[in-house]
Amino acid sequence: MEETEETIVYRLGANCSLEDVEEGKTYIGKVQGFANFGVFVQLCDRVKGLVHKSNVKQQHKERDPILVSVLQIRSNGNIDLEEVTPTIYHTRTVTRKTPTVMLSDLGTKIGRTVLIEGEVAQIKQTSGPTIFTLVDESGTENAAAFVEAGVRAYPDIQLGDIVGVVGEVMQRNNQLQIEVASIVALGDEDAARVRKRIDQALDERSEPEDFPFLVQSEVLEILKPAMRNVAKRIRKAVFTAQPIVLRHHADADGICAAVAVEQAVTALIRESGGDFDADYFLFKRAPSKAPFYEIEDITRDLDFALKDNVRYGQKLPMILLMDNGSTDEDVPALRAAQVYGLPVLVVDHHHPDEIVDQYLVGHVNPYHVGGDFGITAGMLGCEIARMVNPAVENQIRHLPAIAAVGDRSEAAERARYLEIVSQDYSLDDCRDIALALDYEQFWLRFNDGREIIKDILNLSGEPERHRRLVKLLVEGANRAIEEQMEAVMPHVELRVLPNGAHLFMLDVEIYAHRFTFPPPGKTSGEVHDRLVQKYAGTPVVTLGFGPDFAVLRSRGVMMNIPQMVRELRKEIVGGGVNGGGHLVVGSIKFVEGMRSNVLEGLIAKIGNAPI
Ligand code: MN
Repeated sequence: MEETEETIVYRLGANCSLEDVEEGKTYIGKVQGFANFGVFVQLCDRVKGLVHKSNVKQQHKERDPILVSVLQIRSNGNIDLEEVTPTIYHTRTVTRKTPTVMLSDLGTKIGRTVLIEGEVAQIKQTSGPTIFTLVDESGTENAAAFVEAGVRAYPDIQLGDIVGVVGEVMQRNNQLQIEVASIVALGDEDAARVRKRIDQALDERSEPEDFPFLVQSEVLEILKPAMRNVAKRIRKAVFTAQPIVLRHHADADGICAAVAVEQAVTALIRESGGDFDADYFLFKRAPSKAPFYEIEDITRDLDFALKDNVRYGQKLPMILLMDNGSTDEDVPALRAAQVYGLPVLVVDHHHPDEIVDQYLVGHVNPYHVGGDFGITAGMLGCEIARMVNPAVENQIRHLPAIAAVGDRSEAAERARYLEIVSQDYSLDDCRDIALALDYEQFWLRFNDGREIIKDILNLSGEPERHRRLVKLLVEGANRAIEEQMEAVMPHVELRVLPNGAHLFMLDVEIYAHRFTFPPPGKTSGEVHDRLVQKYAGTPVVTLGFGPDFAVLRSRGVMMNIPQMVRELRKEIVGGGVNGGGHLVVGSIKFVEGMRSNVLEGLIAKIGNAPI
């Protein structure tokens, strides 16, 4: 039998709408419900019609398949159907006439009605409409659906659903928005197809470009795949509107690392659409009190993340730890993140403990490839930031030099990063900026100070304000340091150890000003710097201690502080020893009543270390 219109039964494909239905054609549908005047038939998610009871040929139950011919499409969109019962027929799927529009193309469709397929990345109920944030492979935009002021529209649509949205593209306050006419959660098969398409495309889009590092570095070259992994995951989080929480060590190096990534990420968020303030609520930077990710930190982060999830329908965040995160002290916090399934990335240059890796989806650390802490977090952070968003390179290329100076890097890379910015920033400028960061962070306590920090780092486009602010902060910091040194230097005690090292000891609790700048760690560091100059050519260790802590710095003595801490912990029963840090810069905690035992044990180990 020849195929003719009469023998073809059409099946409406995903997202087909009224425009795809033609009068006179036969369609397969599903019985949706009954009224006393007839039977409602669903032709696809968005299209339904009515078979008047006079046109019903057979008995039906709900959800039965039914073949219908279209008698008339009325101007109000109602469709009149007639049941048909052909014995032999072919089915064909109708693909919709309205092609899906990419979110990144909405700017060219203002005033038009479009179909979007994407993932629901956020559902925010306002006092007016419900705002669905949609993500597809090209970008992020909001769709506003209104039923009644403050009432949740489409309550069946959940975070993470793959949906088809039809609506008109509007522009409000310079922001694109879709005024929703309909949202449909796609069926399993269609959702899987769209999800796969978006995932594949996003995966490709998230792949960082490959270009050379700012400076030549063997260690960075070997770290490149791990750095690309971190950069790719950051990009993907941005493209899928997953919030990022960036936690970092609260010193100049940690700040430089974190701010480099902050610049890259916030610019990328603004570029990829969505709310005008998305760069604020999708990216949070927070300095950590301790030199590791504490339980206090993760508890705060989880508290905010879970509330944002419930109140603003946000996804749970990805956590990025910088200049932090590599040691077993981080494990309790990492385990808490694991309970909530939060992915965690670490970019650190502290001596890593292998145990952390089971909790991480990415870990960049120079020790993994034979490098050391001389490759600072700021260097790593800046290079990763360039991978995340190359457009910010010119703004951030001076940050590694500041970080290297701030963290006293002795790696060859330090000079190279200084060299590439030497036109604009001298070594002294970098030293001043690093000191200004440390000083300002002390007053910021554990706030990020996003905009103030940008001024200190000359990222606000206000060079004069930057210059004046840094000058002011450096004067304040130096005055405070001088006062502190006047007070403490007369109380430094020298012991010459068996290996010839000069050990300088200072009780920072009773001989230093407390609760002001410089804090005990930096006070000891300043003391150390002065002694190193005075005793040039001699191995020098400076030990600043309080009732239950000690901070150590060394020049010319080959110590391994994390290992010494582990040994002391075993040897001094009831000492409560823990701590860590870098090989030759570190801090140790213990219980107050065991201070003399711990300090003497520590001094014995320093006295045995090779010079
Ligand atoms: Mn550091």
